[in-house]
Amino acid sequence: MGKRLREWWGLNNPSSYVRKYVYTSNMRAAVYMAFIVICLEIWMMLSLARTVVESAAAGKPRDFLWIVNHGAWYAVLLAIAAVVMVHAIRYLRHKTYNTRVGNVLLLIFSVACLIFGIHFGNNSYVKGDQILAFVTMTLFVFGLLVWKPIPALVASVVSFGGFYLYIDHNLPANYSLQVNLFTLWISTLVVALSAYHQKVSEGAKDEGIEKANEALRRIASFDELTGIPNMHSFGSAVTVLFEGIEQFDIQYAILYMDIENFKAYNDKNGFGAGDRLLRDVAVGLEEIFASEMIARYSDDHFVALCESRVAEERAKAGYDLVRSLRGDVRLHLRTGIYEPDMKEDVDVNQACDKARYACNEIKRHPGVFTNYYDDKLDNDVRRRQHIINNVKRAVSEGWIKVYYQPVVRCADGSGELCGYEALARWIDPEYGFMPPFAFIETLEEFREIDKLDRCIIEQVCRDLRAELDEGKEVVPVSLNFSRLDFELYDVPAFLEQMSSKYNVPSNLLDVEITESALTQQMSLLQKNMSLLRQNEFSLWLDDFGSGYSSLNTLKDYQFNVLKIDMVFLRGFEDNEKAKPILHRIVELAKDLGMVTLCEGVETKEQFEFLSSIGCDRAQGYFFGKPDAEKQLPAAL
Ligand code: C2E
Ligand code: MG
Ligand code: MG
Repeated sequence: MGKRLREWWGLNNPSSYVRKYVYTSNMRAAVYMAFIVICLEIWMMLSLARTVVESAAAGKPRDFLWIVNHGAWYAVLLAIAAVVMVHAIRYLRHKTYNTRVGNVLLLIFSVACLIFGIHFGNNSYVKGDQILAFVTMTLFVFGLLVWKPIPALVASVVSFGGFYLYIDHNLPANYSLQVNLFTLWISTLVVALSAYHQKVSEGAKDEGIEKANEALRRIASFDELTGIPNMHSFGSAVTVLFEGIEQFDIQYAILYMDIENFKAYNDKNGFGAGDRLLRDVAVGLEEIFASEMIARYSDDHFVALCESRVAEERAKAGYDLVRSLRGDVRLHLRTGIYEPDMKEDVDVNQACDKARYACNEIKRHPGVFTNYYDDKLDNDVRRRQHIINNVKRAVSEGWIKVYYQPVVRCADGSGELCGYEALARWIDPEYGFMPPFAFIETLEEFREIDKLDRCIIEQVCRDLRAELDEGKEVVPVSLNFSRLDFELYDVPAFLEQMSSKYNVPSNLLDVEITESALTQQMSLLQKNMSLLRQNEFSLWLDDFGSGYSSLNTLKDYQFNVLKIDMVFLRGFEDNEKAKPILHRIVELAKDLGMVTLCEGVETKEQFEFLSSIGCDRAQGYFFGKPDAEKQLPAAL
């Protein structure tokens, strides 16, 4: 039989949700039915009493058996209705969950109603009255209750057939009664069947909505990839826990865990394997923090909450777990730990941020895998936050200043001024004077560096314009660009705009790009560089040799000036190898057609050596530190 046909006949097994829905609907109907029956029977009992009294007054007292016969019917039905009503109300109020008892009671009640209807319908019929008692009861039982199609068919055939045979036996039914009875049966059956299908489809619809809600609840609380709680549920759970914590006097710790080198694992083994690893780590961490709380923060980052006294032990277990799963990629689990002040209101997001910050700090300390958030970090976080919150203000209120450091001729040994490097300083009303290391990295991390760099470019152009207007002799100024500048705005267009706004020729502005920038987004940088070259800006490679370099960069990119990092001059006096290396670099740059500039010149000896190997230019404290005014280089 087709699925639909089976469904129509109620031969399939509906889900437990639909069964419960139908059952609840029957219990609700039972309350109405029972209420009506109780009222009806009380009314019948009162009429019976009146008949008895009136008959006695008229001198024709009813005989005792007649009274019992009628009264017993009413009493039995009333009692059953009362029991059904009590049970149904208890079920609807979640005081009882026993569906079997409910079903039996409902069956007894239905049968009693039908027998009552048949009996009193017959009585009326025999007396020549309408069979209303039977009609009422059948409509009651088949119309209000939800029956499966087959039981409805059987029950209606039995009750209508039984009634027909019963009355026909007592007084043969005429044709019109037969037709009326048949029509009534069919209508009752159709009502019963349609009630069934309607309730089942309502139940199924409800179930669908419920399932969707459940899925939404899951998505809202659990991380899809790993199946462990997400940050939303972690936040709520921790908040609830902390709300009642004062009484317990327990110090908790928030742990932020990061799988170091996970990107390499993904690159080597593919995203599928990466996902599997994350799931395995999540499962393992769930075991480690079995009696505590754990959640996936994002990507390869997890957060957990445990008592402070076991925090390091847990971090170590997590570290061992990742080591055991990592395969041939060197993965480590780094953990930042933050112990919030339990006496104050703890903001879970901020607490996680602090643990994250402590974790990120570990990057600077190779070989360390756990780190606590302390006062120093706290100050750092505040300063970083201050920088991010105030970068726009710093630009508009002039807290950002350009400092100029002179660059001198070197190859000719003259030490004469040939340029300046523009270096940013942030003079903050709260934090005072800040050198670039205090804010450049933060601005880069939050992708706000463009605000600072545009401000510096404009100030440099404005200063050059003022000098030109005063008729001073000017030298070019080199500007520092971050890798992100090229992603965040159109650098060539902005330089063009500034040089035409202040009427400063492009040969007075040089573009320094640090070596680390070359490792990313090669095509974007190449495109920008060629545009800048077309507009006749000179391109400088900054910090050559500072760590990221490879000689390949010299092959892949075309620079006009090579700025040799000051690392080569550190230990210059004691390290005999420094000189030949510098010599080779200068020669190589010349062969490639580049001008050379050495940074960090602090002594006369260094300058003289650079001059002797033909290094074109020099810059360093020996000639002058960066200053708010363009100072002339110290004379040799
Ligand atoms: P950089 O471009 O390599 O700048 C040279 C740095 O070396 C400057 O530090 C300068 O003060 C310092 N320096 C110069 N001569 C000597 C010396 O003889 N000895 C020593 N020990 N240091 C010397 P500063 O100004 O702190 O800048 C640090 C870095 O910050 C810069 O390195 C540059 O990468 C970045 N930076 C500075 N201003 C800006 C800017 O406006 N935008 C961007 N994106 N980065 C900037
Ligand atoms: Mg520079
Ligand atoms: Mg440099």
